[in-house]
Amino acid sequence: MPAIVKQFPCLSDNYGLLIHDTDTGATAAIDAPDGAPVLAALSEMGWTLTDILVTHRHFDHVQGIPALLAAFPKARVVAPAKEADKIGVRADLEVCEHDVVRVGALGARVIETPGHTIGHIVYWFESEDILFAGDTLFSIGCGRVNETPMDVMWASLQKIAALPQDTQIYCGHEYTQANARFALTIDPNNDLLKQRAIEVADLRANNHPTLPTTLELELAINPFLRADDDAIRQTLGLKTADAADVFGEIRLRKNRA
Ligand code: ZN
Ligand code: FE
Repeated sequence: MPAIVKQFPCLSDNYGLLIHDTDTGATAAIDAPDGAPVLAALSEMGWTLTDILVTHRHFDHVQGIPALLAAFPKARVVAPAKEADKIGVRADLEVCEHDVVRVGALGARVIETPGHTIGHIVYWFESEDILFAGDTLFSIGCGRVNETPMDVMWASLQKIAALPQDTQIYCGHEYTQANARFALTIDPNNDLLKQRAIEVADLRANNHPTLPTTLELELAINPFLRADDDAIRQTLGLKTADAADVFGEIRLRKNRA
């Protein structure tokens, strides 16, 4: 595999992420939560930043871009077409559904996942089996649905659910422990979830990341991908509702949790 991913904490609970193509030396930052830690990671690895791949316009994902461009003026900024004018800097490339973004010899397919923001996109490096999910999907959770109806976010998550099960998923935030606590209220008899909640508590007690995760694991334990699960429907008293409505109910409960 010619790709190496470097993940490191930024701000209070964001992750900085770099993907490096060993064949060409190209390196992309996925979002830029903060300039200094991203620059520190680049220098630690000895990598030159060539691309910045923006998932969405929120401040905790774009505020580090000017610092990165000051250090790497030739880096290309790639942003979702639907909110490229709101990321605080000029985008060099605006992308939509099905576009393929090249990072050296690597290719990332753009998947539009409206919900958290209207223009949110995720980057799927198909040949590497890696997904950068931004704030659309978290481990055992999903982003707040700020800008679309619930069924639109459900459809966005279904696009991710349809990717290969062995896809490695990197996310914008380390929220897994709180997500697991909530998920157990929705899916209390899920043995795999119970087991993972214990592992996650242990990882966090030692300040270790719980990410990346895999799609296979998330399909088994993430209630936001499991709105059509019979046990979950039963727990919620929504046996005959649409999956999108079940999803909406889970998301509303999480907002209040
Ligand atoms: Zn966000
Ligand atoms: Fe965020």
